Amino acid sequence: MGWAVALHGGAGVPASLPTESRVHREAALHRILQIGVSAISANRSPLDVVELVVRELENCPHFNAGKGSVLTTNGTVEMEASIMDGNTKRCGAVSGVTSVVNPVSLARLVMEKTPHIYLAFDGAEAFARQQGVETADISHFITPENIERLKQAKEANRVQQDYVQPIKTEDQKQTTVDHESNTKLGTVGCVAVDGQGNLTAATSTGGLVNKMVGRIGDTPIIGAGTYANKYCAVSATGIGEVIMRETVARDVAAVMEYKGLGLKEAAAYIIHEVLPKGTAGLVAVSVAGEVAMPFNTPGMFRACATEDGFKEVAIWSSD
Ligand code: ASP
Repeated sequence: MGWAVALHGGAGVPASLPTESRVHREAALHRILQIGVSAISANRSPLDVVELVVRELENCPHFNAGKGSVLTTNGTVEMEASIMDGNTKRCGAVSGVTSVVNPVSLARLVMEKTPHIYLAFDGAEAFARQQGVETADISHFITPENIERLKQAKEANRVQQDYVQPIKTEDQKQTTVDHESNTKLGTVGCVAVDGQGNLTAATSTGGLVNKMVGRIGDTPIIGAGTYANKYCAVSATGIGEVIMRETVARDVAAVMEYKGLGLKEAAAYIIHEVLPKGTAGLVAVSVAGEVAMPFNTPGMFRACATEDGFKEVAIWSSD
């Protein structure tokens, strides 16, 4: 038994990426993994570790959560997040948040400061004001890349995870925006276990590009996008509607508990046998300090480290 930390920056990465887009995201994964490793090595609680790591991912404009959230069909931002502690099964979640810089921290406050699990829209915003969490104007969240992604999604008349083919701008400038819009972003998440087997999970997202106003995905749904108990902690990413139908995060834990499968087998079974191909991925850690990071899409931004010195930062399966 030893500690382990795993994080993701979204599944569904296309089979290749422009170098610039890849390099930025890889650098962010390395940097943020190190923050998680330092925190867990310094005996911070796994709950603090997943919150800290997800906050960093939310603050990074290269991922679809917090700053960098993708846009609704109205061009607005509606973020969602959840967090869960495996030992106590306490959990918190928020949806429809428009001004909170770190939705994962608001989810933790719902868990710790209210008798409820899940607050959404106006109630979640009012609670954020009452708790005095950091908020920002909408311009903080909206990046030029996401304005372009929404435009392309509308032109193609589709709701999408966030990958779109580049289109040339009027003056044919193939600039960063075009490159960026050819890049898969992703929901973010982190799972952690300490040396005593305390397991936690957290997930945060802006949702899907061109989603309907009011749409809620899997990320804040306990048991779908996020789950932790005494066996494992799981954070999922992919098409929320599929993940919710299959209760992905809870099913990994259930297969371990009821069928006696190990973490890697359980996670692989759900991702490869249960879910349709091309829909999702997850990161998970077990009470014994094992890590699983399967996905059935071309790639998933991911990183992990364990107490015995193992470290991995990868995007595609052959990395
Ligand atoms: N699962 C997220 C959602 O459907 C999207 C993602 O993981 O990229 O809202």
